[in-house]
Amino acid sequence: MPVPSFTTTCLGNRIIARDVYEFLLQKPEGFSYKAGQFVLFDVPLMENPADIQTRAFSIASAPQEKELLFVAKMKEGGRASRWIAEALNAGSSVRLQGPFGVSFHRDEYWCGTLSCTAYRSTGVR
Ligand SMILES: Cc1cc2nc3c(=O)[nH]c(=O)nc-3n(C[C@H](O)[C@H](O)[C@H](O)COP(=O)(O)OP(=O)(O)OC[C@H]3O[C@@H](n4cnc5c(N)ncnc54)[C@H](O)[C@@H]3O)c2cc1C
Repeated sequence: MPVPSFTTTCLGNRIIARDVYEFLLQKPEGFSYKAGQFVLFDVPLMENPADIQTRAFSIASAPQEKELLFVAKMKEGGRASRWIAEALNAGSSVRLQGPFGVSFHRDEYWCGTLSCTAYRSTGVR
């Protein structure tokens, strides 16, 4: 089955702690997910925007929230880290694939997740 891909717009990006950014994306039409899932962003190399690789980020917003929230911890010199810190601003176009992952919250119990950002998406009511 082909992986769904979407193009959307960044609504804002800000530093919330040392080396940690929080960015908000418009939820693309037809994009639905379960709490705890993640997406793959198309991440350009800063020196050559035609050179694209994907990076995984957990969706920190809950499915019922209007927008998609992500939290990124910077890795020095990392491709996605540089893209988020240097290029991702309100109005930027963002391409993503997903959602992926089967590590999500069910009403009766908590499943393991890969990062704490995924926990936020399961906790918002
Ligand atoms: C399912 C999943 C969900 C995730 N969710 C999140 C999330 O919500 N938030 C989050 O912050 N991260 C998350 N991650 C991690 C994220 O995908 C990235 O791995 C992370 O952001 C670093 O990516 P980067 O492109 O910035 O760094 P990369 O470019 O991958 O580099 C990583 C480090 O290696 C160094 N490096 C790269 N190439 C070389 C080289 N040739 N020689 C020496 N050093 C090198 C870089 O300088 C950097 O320090 C998730 C990962 C997975 C698998």
